[in-house]
Amino acid sequence: MNDDDFSRASHAHGKFYGELLKLRKGEIQSPPDLVIYPRSEDDIIRILEVCNKNKIAVTPFGGNSSVTRGVETPKGGISLDLTKHFNKVLEINTINSTVTVQSGMYGPAFEDYLNNFGEGFTCGHFPQSFEYSTVGGWVAAKGAGQASTGYGKIEHMVLSLKVITPSGVIETKTYPASAQGWDLYPIFIGSEGTLGVITQVTMKIHKHRPENTKYASFIFKNFESAVVAMRTAMQDGIGLPHLFRISDPEETEIAFKTKNFEGTLTDKFLNTLGYKSGNRCLMFVAVDGNKAYVNQVIKSIKNNNKKHKAFFIGASPTKKWLEQRYSSAYLRDPLMDLGIMTDTLETAVMWENLIPLWSAVRKYLKAREKTVAMVHISHVYENGANLYFTFLSPMKKDDEINDYLLFHKGLVDTIHENKGSLSHHHGIGKTMAPWMEKELGSESMKLMQAIKNHLDPNGIMNPGNTLGLKP
Ligand SMILES: Cc1cc2nc3c(=O)[nH]c(=O)nc-3n(C[C@H](O)[C@H](O)[C@H](O)COP(=O)(O)OP(=O)(O)OC[C@H]3O[C@@H](n4cnc5c(N)ncnc54)[C@H](O)[C@@H]3O)c2cc1C
Repeated sequence: MNDDDFSRASHAHGKFYGELLKLRKGEIQSPPDLVIYPRSEDDIIRILEVCNKNKIAVTPFGGNSSVTRGVETPKGGISLDLTKHFNKVLEINTINSTVTVQSGMYGPAFEDYLNNFGEGFTCGHFPQSFEYSTVGGWVAAKGAGQASTGYGKIEHMVLSLKVITPSGVIETKTYPASAQGWDLYPIFIGSEGTLGVITQVTMKIHKHRPENTKYASFIFKNFESAVVAMRTAMQDGIGLPHLFRISDPEETEIAFKTKNFEGTLTDKFLNTLGYKSGNRCLMFVAVDGNKAYVNQVIKSIKNNNKKHKAFFIGASPTKKWLEQRYSSAYLRDPLMDLGIMTDTLETAVMWENLIPLWSAVRKYLKAREKTVAMVHISHVYENGANLYFTFLSPMKKDDEINDYLLFHKGLVDTIHENKGSLSHHHGIGKTMAPWMEKELGSESMKLMQAIKNHLDPNGIMNPGNTLGLKP
């Protein structure tokens, strides 16, 4: 338990761009009064009892990589940090192919443990924040990893969980599937700390066979043909790649520039073949699994892409991308030093709305002077995909926070108006909460609120409009 300034300040904010701007100005509003590192589930039960009785706010805290103001504590109270003592694998069952893990375990420690257990396993969840996020945070914020097309999003991985709520403890049983009324554990996936503290999760695991993984990279003539190729691959029953990713033309050109590819002989050759700078798009593919499956999926994707006039450029661009996949996020701070705002937003969209949404958002972003707008698709489904937007733009000097918040609001409005979801994997937090009722409708919000009121009658769990819920 800590109440020193550093502990309180470092538990008062996450990684939302607006929070980072405020931090740079030395602004830390309403930090928690106390940071508690519970040692056992009994500790958490007792803490929630006391806090519930005295109406003290409790905000669960994992790796602190939230980009939606999920861990901010506007009502002060207690930040409940699970990373110190809730960081162990409790059981691996190789017959069922499951792992039961405590919620405060960080990604790398969890994956290392699985890789080194028995013949080797993987959980298949690799968000870009992998190094700094926890299993509990993945589940609470409903995340997706970079290999989600094959392994699924976190809600496809969880089989059961245990949650301590102010009203009591809920532990769901583990079945491969069941028909016992509606399932209850999904209510807590995406609950963002508003209903209780997730203490342990039982998840699927898979055989880890990196020696079998195969990679392929392609260039398409334009974004539209790459999207059609991706969609048909997902709908033709050829098996699923694990990593499946397209960069739009602007992101592709920036990738080429930063890798010193521009102006090379190969670049000139591609241009003469019709893969023109400014239109062409990169696709990355990686497939895991047993050898026969991997070979069949790669072969089918190659055949499919050929029909859409893609040019196969070998395995190494995808491998290189995978090697540096966690590093680009670290550019955000040095760019801030240079007065450049850089942020990301993401959404899920049905196939028929994908190109119109991509165009509308690009139009919005490019209307701002000197703005770089990069877009990729990285989580793909039979019925649609996500779009992930990264923008870089000079900040308005001395008005950085308002400038950013206004630009961000316009961007979310544009996504919402063009049939994109509020989030595909970053969650809602306090940042996207103002759009929730418009997105879900008032009856759905009332239902969510009723569940909240039952489990957390005094509104102590992550208060301050998280998920658009009232205390
Ligand atoms: C550079 C960067 C890249 C990112 N890339 C991805 C990505 O590729 N995919 C992706 O899905 N996300 C990504 N994110 C967002 C973020 O990493 C995820 O939301 C992640 O799942 C949060 O996990 P965490 O452990 O850091 O949780 P925290 O940030 O500590 O908490 C997130 C929310 O979950 C709640 N919470 C945490 N633990 C528990 C618990 N045990 N019980 C109940 N509630 C809890 C918190 O109260 C908070 O509301 C990225 C973030 C950054 C900064």
